[in-house]
Order: sequence, then structure tokens, then C-alpha cells
Amino acid sequence: MSGFMKEFKEFIAKGNVMDMAVGVIIGGAFTAIVNALVDNVIQPFITLITGGGTDVGGLQIRVNAETVIDFGAFISAIINFLIVALIVFLLVKSLNKMMAMTNIATEESEEPAPVCPHCLEEVKDGATRCPHCGSEIK
Ligand SMILES: [Zn+2]
Repeated sequence: MSGFMKEFKEFIAKGNVMDMAVGVIIGGAFTAIVNALVDNVIQPFITLITGGGTDVGGLQIRVNAETVIDFGAFISAIINFLIVALIVFLLVKSLNKMMAMTNIATEESEEPAPVCPHCLEEVKDGATRCPHCGSEIK
């Protein structure tokens, strides 16, 4: 049991748990935004185009007096899921692109400036003579 507790403490201390918690919270808020976008902006737009094409709530099969199989709600849920998945895909795609661009920018700025081998002062990239000690640089 003590081994389990130790492992659990290490798991929390790693910091991944905090990252995960932040991810879950942001994900929850993000879902609300996407749902609002789908319900209030995209669905009315699609309904306008298709003339009520996504309004499939009438697709019901009455098995008996108590049991109704509602295909409409199921199909609506699938359509919603596909729209949300598409939006998330596009967002993640543009986010990845942004991250890649940021990474390239950081890599460029983090490259250390060249140093004169004689006096160890920083010199400009491509310089052939050190401005500090006057030595030639190859
Ligand atoms: Zn120098």
C-alpha cells in the first residue's frame, strides 16, 4: 500500500496531472463555445440552406403505445457530432500551424550568437574580423 501511495505522489508531483486538469477545464469551456457556435450559428445556417434539412425530429417509429424509437434525435446528434468534430479539427489544425510557426521563431532567436575564438566576445554572424580584439575569424 505504501508503494502505491509513493507512486501516486510521484504521479501528482510530475506536473502532468496539473497540465491534464488545465486541459480538462479548458476543454470543458471550449466545448461550450463550440456547442454555442453549432446551435446558434451553424445549425440555423444549414437549416436555411437545406430548408430544414437537419430538422429530422419527425423520424420516429412507434413500436407500441409506450415505446417510440426516435431516429431523428439520433441522426441530429450524429450531425452535431460531425460538425463539432470538423470545427475542432480545423481549430487544432490552425493551432498546430501556429505552434509550428512559434517553434521556428523560438529556434531562430535561441540560436547563440557566434563568438570570437580569441577573446570570446560575441561577434556578428558572418563577420571575418572581431570588432573587440581585431583578430581574423574563419
Ligand atoms: Zn575577438
